[in-house]
Amino acid sequence: DSEDEGDQEYLFKVVIIGDSAVGKSNLLSRYARNEFNMHSKATIGVEFQTQSMDIDGKEVKAQIWDTAGQERFRAVTSAYYRGAVGALIVYDISRRSTFESVGRWLDELNSHSDTTVVRMLVGNKCDLENIRDVSVEEGKNLAETEGLFFIETSALDSVNVKKAFEIVIREIYDNVS
Ligand code: GDP
Ligand code: MG
Repeated sequence: DSEDEGDQEYLFKVVIIGDSAVGKSNLLSRYARNEFNMHSKATIGVEFQTQSMDIDGKEVKAQIWDTAGQERFRAVTSAYYRGAVGALIVYDISRRSTFESVGRWLDELNSHSDTTVVRMLVGNKCDLENIRDVSVEEGKNLAETEGLFFIETSALDSVNVKKAFEIVIREIYDNVS
């Protein structure tokens, strides 16, 4: 413990990845601004949002990056991943193909990162229980196999969104402090 510990600044880069339309942008807007958009188009121009949280009396900031639609063209750049210490890998529980893409996103993340990245598998749209296409068990199993945290969320109903980000940010903090 140093005397100036209180002045320490924590700023962590966290990226959100996953197939198009799984709800990445809405997870971020729900977390950062408590907003949801039913007809959200790819947000052009907004690269990231900075969100602060208090951990053990310290201000911890997360700079959370959204793909701004690049994933549709499989053109998520190295700059996007550079320096990331946390990642949310998102799929849509009502669309199995987005779950099947998770492996590819993990490979891409691995190939772009040179440090340990705290990774959370996120099954979004859990409000769509009636058209569920991926069971909770399958999500859990994949997360266990790959060594990821796992959570199901709904950006629409505000279920577990804050929790998903905060688990990642806290784990990063615990790893560095
Ligand atoms: P992105 O392409 O991954 O950034 O996905 P968006 O955030 O743009 O969301 C794609 C579509 O899914 C939009 O029509 C959203 O309104 C919808 N959506 C996002 N999150 C949820 C959710 O939790 N539940 C439901 N039912 N729809 C969602
Ligand atoms: Mg988006």
